[in-house]
Amino acid sequence: MTEVIAKKRDGGSLTEKELTFFINGLTNGDIPDYQTSALLMAIYLNKMNSRETATLTRLMMESGDQIDLSAITGIKVDKHSTGGVGDKTTLVLAPLVASTGVPVAKMTGKGLGHTGGTVDKLESFAGIHTALDQKAFIKQVKKIGIALTGQSGNLVPADQQLYALRDVTATVDNRSLIAASIMSKKLASGADAIVLDVKVGNGGFNPDVASAQKLAKTMIAIGKKMNRKTVAVISRMDQPLGHAVGNGLEVIEAIETLKGNGPKDLVDLSLELGSQMLLLSKKVTTKTAAKKLLKKQLSSGAALKLFKKFIKAQGGDISLIDNYDQFPTAKYTQEIIAPTSGWVNGLTARTVGLASMQLGAGRQKKSDPIDLAAGVYLHKKIGSKVKKGDVLATLYTNKKKQLQSAMELILPAWRIEVKQKKQAAVVVKVIR
Ligand code: URA
Repeated sequence: MTEVIAKKRDGGSLTEKELTFFINGLTNGDIPDYQTSALLMAIYLNKMNSRETATLTRLMMESGDQIDLSAITGIKVDKHSTGGVGDKTTLVLAPLVASTGVPVAKMTGKGLGHTGGTVDKLESFAGIHTALDQKAFIKQVKKIGIALTGQSGNLVPADQQLYALRDVTATVDNRSLIAASIMSKKLASGADAIVLDVKVGNGGFNPDVASAQKLAKTMIAIGKKMNRKTVAVISRMDQPLGHAVGNGLEVIEAIETLKGNGPKDLVDLSLELGSQMLLLSKKVTTKTAAKKLLKKQLSSGAALKLFKKFIKAQGGDISLIDNYDQFPTAKYTQEIIAPTSGWVNGLTARTVGLASMQLGAGRQKKSDPIDLAAGVYLHKKIGSKVKKGDVLATLYTNKKKQLQSAMELILPAWRIEVKQKKQAAVVVKVIR
């Protein structure tokens, strides 16, 4: 292992044999954390080429269970987001796409840091099972066309170990390591094709379009090598997606979107990602046809109907869908007031995410509990005109002590200026 570390430290590229030695040693416990951490830092500083990245991804994929979805007929398309604030897209997209007859068999994660995860949001439905075993998962997709489950304990164990170390050694933010982490999980989850939602902006990993594009291209190249058609949608995460940030609040917004009352950015992104999924599944041949079909599924109520069926099939209480009073409520609320008049030209997603986390909606460590009722509802987003004294947002929490610091943290998130700036569309571009 010392030789492997030294080779990367000196700028060399690691062979398949060396990477195999590393991943095997990591997963069977032979390599201590301090050596893995040293190698991660050497990779962070000296980077990996495309061959090393693809080999690492395959070895990570092979480190644990690999889901076989071949019992489900049709082309199975998965979607993955690189993570953002207020990103409840999966809750809309999964039933929307599945309602067209394209099977959706999706493994989904928990939130970490200031970004949320679908599994946590689903926990809003009392009684829901988010840990289906493989047999139950496949059976449900065959029966109703959709199932969502948390990752099985043994899916890409190498990533679980590497991510935990990257998190505490300041080595998360490396393109090859991010790409290998995401793609190994997607490949092990068994999809035939993959749509990636690569976020750009302060709420995610990529500060600018150029770096988002490089990450997207790295992941597309890995997909190609593994014979999985992969398409990436670059989307903006400068401000949170939609108005709701926090698990219960986001579920309500997702349901409203399925009822046809969604915020424009969430609807636009869902239609774009959904269209790419329908194209990859060969359900349609043009994007125009895809969007038309998806809009019809929303307006006819077909997507909402399937959402109810899916929540019920996984044991969740569907009465919440038509009665939001039954969602967990926070004991304390606080309005954030506009200090000046003008136009909202900026709304830092990361700051809103961090404030929401402080209120109890997120977790620092994977084992931390989450408060489903906590979060932030944004009344004014980029493009809004505000008057001094208007309510910019409402904070929700059960932790009274956190209100003051969350208020102080969140207020600078809004950039209010005299002149209105042109608003950018949520979808930047599609790369294939
Ligand atoms: N999401 C992941 O699953 N892994 C990373 O490394 C970054 C984002």
